[in-house]
Amino acid sequence: MRRAALALTLLLAATGASATPTLTVFACEPEWAALTRVLMPQARLHVATHAGQDPHHIEARPALIAQLRSADLAVCTGAALESGWLPVLQQRAGNARVRDVFYAADHVELIDPQPGVIGTPWAGDVHAQGNPHLHTDPHKLLEVAQALAQRLQQECPVQREAIAERLRGFETQWRARIAHWERQAAPLRGRSVAAQHTTFGYLWRWLGLRQTADLEPRPGMAPTPGHLQRLLEGLRREPPLAVVVAGFHDPRAARWLAGQLGSSTTWLTLPATVAEDADGAALLRWMDELVAPLLRAAAR
Ligand SMILES: [Zn+2]
Repeated sequence: MRRAALALTLLLAATGASATPTLTVFACEPEWAALTRVLMPQARLHVATHAGQDPHHIEARPALIAQLRSADLAVCTGAALESGWLPVLQQRAGNARVRDVFYAADHVELIDPQPGVIGTPWAGDVHAQGNPHLHTDPHKLLEVAQALAQRLQQECPVQREAIAERLRGFETQWRARIAHWERQAAPLRGRSVAAQHTTFGYLWRWLGLRQTADLEPRPGMAPTPGHLQRLLEGLRREPPLAVVVAGFHDPRAARWLAGQLGSSTTWLTLPATVAEDADGAALLRWMDELVAPLLRAAAR
């Protein structure tokens, strides 16, 4: 009898210990941290970049090396977005567990690959493999969520069912919102935008917008007066709905260009990603924050 009670205690203790097994995840960008939280809320997360930073270019700080050293899994964008800093972190962290990084870009079809262009680790913003900023297309984000769920299940098999259930919940909610955004966005279809870099290339494609000018003279290069002047001349023929920059860009070039184009063009700063502590609800709000300002611009 006493032995049976002891066995039960041990069993309960073991169940208790494995009821909330967790992983330490190093997320290169906040959107992947948010998706990890959706699928595995108990995961310990380190987030390498924030919305105020250009994810192409960050410094391989010692704090990041220490975080990568302690991680069980790294979740990043790939397609060379992090090629200027992630290999350095990996080398210095010397952690075999994070050698096989989960790259979101491996699980979706990328737009605008440039097969002839040679990308280098120092020119990740050239996008030879295709545009890596795929998280601004909610359909692609959902595909990444499905692939990430599989990977987390492999890493943490006892959580298999719980992860599958959370994925189903996210899919249902996310699909309903996609349908809502797509209905809302009807007035945007066929309109044009000017923007700095291809940060929102997937958003434009999803919403049926066309990016007709890039404020960068070359990928990753800040706008120059000469380049802006040339763009202005071209854009006068078909003034865009908006001139758009990401939150981490200096907005002055966009403001100037929109001002020169007159009242039919507005300038917008859109958040390139969510906050570092974002969850599923924050991902939904962020997508609202991308769509709503464009709709307001179109309604002017
Ligand atoms: Zn880029």
